[in-house]
Amino acid sequence: MSSYPNLLAPLDLGFTTLKNRVLMGSMHTGLEETKDWNRVAEFYATRARGDVGLMVTGGMAPNREGGVFPGAAGLFTDEDIANHRIVTDRVHEADGKIAMQILHAGRYAYSPECVAPSAVKSPISPFPPKELDEAGIEKQIADIATAAKRAREAGYDGVEVMGSEGYFLNQFLVTHTNKREDRWGGSYENRMRLPIEVVKRVRAAVGDDFIVIYRLSMIDLIPGGSTWDEVVMLAKEIEAVGATIINTGIGWHEARIPTIATSVPRRAFTWVTKKLMGEVSIPVITSNRINTPEVGEAVLADGCADMVSMARPFLADPDFVAKAQSGQAAKIAPCIACNQACLDHTFSGKISSCLVNPRACFETELTLPKTDATKTIAIVGAGPAGLSTAIAADQRGHQVTLFDRAAEIGGQLNMAKQVPGKEEFWGLVDWYRAMLADSNITVKLNTEASARDLKGFDEVIIATGVLPRDPQIDGQDGPNVVSYRDLLQGKASAGDKVAIVGAGGIGFDVAEYLVTDDSPTENLQEWLEEWGVTDPEDQRGGLAPEGPQPEKPVRHVTLLQRKSEKLGKRLGKTTGWIHRAALKLKQVEMVGGVNYERIDSAGLHVSDGEARENPRVIEADTIVLCAGQVSERSLADALIEDGITPHIIGGADVAAELDAKRAIDQGTRLAATL
Ligand code: NAP
Ligand code: SF4
Repeated sequence: MSSYPNLLAPLDLGFTTLKNRVLMGSMHTGLEETKDWNRVAEFYATRARGDVGLMVTGGMAPNREGGVFPGAAGLFTDEDIANHRIVTDRVHEADGKIAMQILHAGRYAYSPECVAPSAVKSPISPFPPKELDEAGIEKQIADIATAAKRAREAGYDGVEVMGSEGYFLNQFLVTHTNKREDRWGGSYENRMRLPIEVVKRVRAAVGDDFIVIYRLSMIDLIPGGSTWDEVVMLAKEIEAVGATIINTGIGWHEARIPTIATSVPRRAFTWVTKKLMGEVSIPVITSNRINTPEVGEAVLADGCADMVSMARPFLADPDFVAKAQSGQAAKIAPCIACNQACLDHTFSGKISSCLVNPRACFETELTLPKTDATKTIAIVGAGPAGLSTAIAADQRGHQVTLFDRAAEIGGQLNMAKQVPGKEEFWGLVDWYRAMLADSNITVKLNTEASARDLKGFDEVIIATGVLPRDPQIDGQDGPNVVSYRDLLQGKASAGDKVAIVGAGGIGFDVAEYLVTDDSPTENLQEWLEEWGVTDPEDQRGGLAPEGPQPEKPVRHVTLLQRKSEKLGKRLGKTTGWIHRAALKLKQVEMVGGVNYERIDSAGLHVSDGEARENPRVIEADTIVLCAGQVSERSLADALIEDGITPHIIGGADVAAELDAKRAIDQGTRLAATL
């Protein structure tokens, strides 16, 4: 019997049956905009071959004004329909099912053309929307219904009507964005008229035997959001007008509560979906921070939903379901919810990919074919760069030996996993371990590889990583100064008052580590209180009236940098605000624009700006150095001196702005060429 009987059970929708309870949720990858339809088709077909029950595409615009940005993809012409046919045909050949999401962005559209129920500008877009008149509303409904009809013509198995996350349909539901006094505003009956009319017209346009998913915002997480009664009322009406499935939306994009970041506990919001179970008779899908088959199974076994949606986990591993089915769950590459290569890319106008799996969205470009010229390959360093090279080279059929002087694989990942809110890194290291165990790679830990050991290999790859940068502060050799490495490796401890030198990714991580005792990511109730989330049955939108209630910080921490810009400005595009907000909740003081004058027993002496004004001491028992990193290239240099030309990757190649994303990408791409 399967370990995941609920997750892998088929779901009978009457006119069609899904092979299991796993939905690949909608993600905007940017692939459709490339117009390389073979590439789009391969992205979805790869996931269909991995046996996911149903996939939803990225949001397709129903018309120009509703596009998330000017030029957003949609089914506007017969040529568009023919192009999407390439995708649906390829998915069906792979025995998969795919629904097209129809996304009208309303006031979230990054365009001066944007439209909304009322002219209320969104805090996350520079463009004030135009208020629609009656004819304008009718046009939007008609365009959404037409998009659904065209989706059917293009061979899709269904559509998802995007009604959550604060987009157009959602904007009609709450008085915060709907100030209308006509039949589309005022009472809740009037405010919900638009989504209901949309689903009714979509159903009429597509016929009975076509999947219509409605994504419903079950907890808005904004002031003035829907009450639970309103959510239930809407769900019942949506069922009555013909939806096949209701999917869960969590939080508007403008909400100041994280909903999918790595510090959000796993399955943090499935309790919200569970409240809807029994209120409607059509299947209900839950979502957010479900990233393993175990969690998915538990969610269904607990009666939280009929089906689970996972989106980013299908970037990390297209074979998620197939591996769960075949008893190979340990080999599922885990999505660590970092957003670094997916959402951060989307918001920077780049094609999405995945930190863990650089082949995501690059299926046609980055391939790992079996080699017909097997080589012996030595890789020094079992951090993310070395590990990803080793695994990809092994998959290609090369004979790989992996050296590391440490007793464990993982390199810097082992430090990241110590940080509260970054527990997903444990799973990533476990996955690498499982992949090594299943490979032909010879792993030599506790082994300091020398130039002599590396002679005779066909290829030598140096992935020796980084060393902490020496900030050369007067007094830094004192007993009250520690490096981030020693601290995170448990070789040093900190007093009650700490000053952190350097506010990059590691400085922020160290601050989080020092102010937090038990990670709220591991304790859902505590996390909900910390961010001020409550039951939408008690408070509109699920916002606690008392606001965030963080645990008291364990220490007093001051985080410093020399630059005068806002601290954390260069952190991830979609996650930097969360790190800043989390440290603010823990009363971490953030100080920029300083010079480090000296360190003594009183603490860290600093002054401001070029004129070295305002000399003062930041009182501290401990000063932690997080001043960036430099490449560890001693072995590479020794090899070059010995006449061996190694490949140098990861931090050993370039330390600046090193992160696991670059390391893994570089390693995989190198392996593809060997
Ligand atoms: P980093 O991001 O480059 O930050 C280095 C910090 O040290 C900066 O705040 C810099 O600020 C300061 N600094 C640089 N030279 C200094 C000097 N000579 N003396 C004193 N201070 C100095 O490096 P990191 O924090 O070590 O992080 C390494 C990499 O890991 C980064 O690329 C980072 O993105 C990644 N990472 C990311 C995350 C994440 O949350 N996404 C978490 C951890 C690590 P000033 O020059 O202004 O003083
Ligand atoms: Fe998940 Fe990070 Fe990959 Fe995005 S980049 S899919 S969040 S692991």
